[in-house]
Amino acid sequence: MNTQTKYMMDFFNDNYVPLTVYHLNKEDKITLGSATEKVCRFCNKDESETTFNNIAHAIPEFIGNKKLIANYECDTCNQKFSSLLESHMGNYMNLWHTLTQVKEKRSVPSFKTINDKSRIDIGPENVNIAEYTDDNILSVDAEKKQ
Ligand SMILES: [Zn+2]
Repeated sequence: MNTQTKYMMDFFNDNYVPLTVYHLNKEDKITLGSATEKVCRFCNKDESETTFNNIAHAIPEFIGNKKLIANYECDTCNQKFSSLLESHMGNYMNLWHTLTQVKEKRSVPSFKTINDKSRIDIGPENVNIAEYTDDNILSVDAEKKQ
């Protein structure tokens, strides 16, 4: 474990108490919140004031969660989180998902720079890196062979 990971694990253990542990690699979906009396935990509206038609993932689907579903997130709040927070988080994590081969909705994403010119694609047998001159996404250290 590197120093940064140890720091983060120590911080988590010192400041949080896990109430429940969910194993997301199991077959069955885990649903949080009532299926019959839905109240949004973020805006406190119930089914008479808002809708709960979308499947709300308690942990974003793009980081691999397909099992942990939240009944307590209304469609309006789900849309806000999706467009405001998750898109930024997705952009931030895009390179790591490409390099570590994390499947998002259906496939492992390609890494693309913000201008869409440079990209990294990892296939089953090769890695393709297309770098445009001004982007500097890649450097080669011949001496260290990196
Ligand atoms: Zn809400």
